[in-house]
Amino acid sequence: MTLEGKRALVTGGGRGIGRAIAERLAAEGARVVVTGRTRAEIDEVAGRLGGEAVEVDLGDRAALGRAIEAISGGGRVDVLVNNAGIAESAPVVRTSDEMFDRAMAVNVAAPLALTRAFLPAMVEARWGRVVNVASVAGLVGHAYTSAYCASKHALIGLTRSVALEVADKGVTVNAVCPGWVETRMVEEAVGRIAKTTGRSEGDARSTLEKMSPQGRLIEPGEVAHLVMALVGEGGRGIHGQALVVDGGGVMR
Ligand code: NAP
Repeated sequence: MTLEGKRALVTGGGRGIGRAIAERLAAEGARVVVTGRTRAEIDEVAGRLGGEAVEVDLGDRAALGRAIEAISGGGRVDVLVNNAGIAESAPVVRTSDEMFDRAMAVNVAAPLALTRAFLPAMVEARWGRVVNVASVAGLVGHAYTSAYCASKHALIGLTRSVALEVADKGVTVNAVCPGWVETRMVEEAVGRIAKTTGRSEGDARSTLEKMSPQGRLIEPGEVAHLVMALVGEGGRGIHGQALVVDGGGVMR
């Protein structure tokens, strides 16, 4: 198997896209470490995959520092997938400083801290993979999600910058940019749209589906498939990219 002997950290690996990524990497032989705040979810995934679960709120710098120490105690991280993220929405005039700070802390500062912690050992081993789960909202603007959009644009900037630093060191650094994916994040968006517009949840969901020319939501496994393509040996030339998996939505 491609990832035999490798250890992979997937933040937000307890559900949704992160869980699908953890499952895919484990199926390729990696020992996975999953993090999240919801103990039952990370325990379930780690238990099933024979991996490790580390409970941490990525928005809490001190807790993140302790989690990094605990993860480092278990050995080197060869594959870092910064997947955890939050997506609060509001018109810009109702986007508070706190909302902005939360988005930047979880979606950007935590990936930076984890990269800073685990990149040196990858460089030393002359093999490593960093994959940041951004969003199409990191490439184009989306109304009513200015804090989220700003944080995902920042995450792509971080990806490109780190990629340049380690380009000749056997480590690749990339971002994946999903469109709407069938997870709790979409369920919450559907609920919000229905509530604010007075439309039915079915109508709200269909609006999201129509944002893709394929007229559908992406499955978490499709994002995991792209991540695996980057992590596997065949992906070693793909570097500093922000790869879209959205059924073609950002091309129009
Ligand atoms: P999800 O089901 O809501 O999962 C989010 C994950 O992030 C959960 O495992 C959650 O765990 C973790 N997380 C959130 N805040 C955290 C915090 N403060 N500390 C630690 N962990 C935290 O959503 P998803 O769709 O799988 O999202 C995964 C990633 O994909 C996110 O970065 C998101 O921005 C991105 N994305 C999603 C979509 C979409 O349509 N679903 C589209 C584009 C990009 P706990 O709640 O247990 O902490």
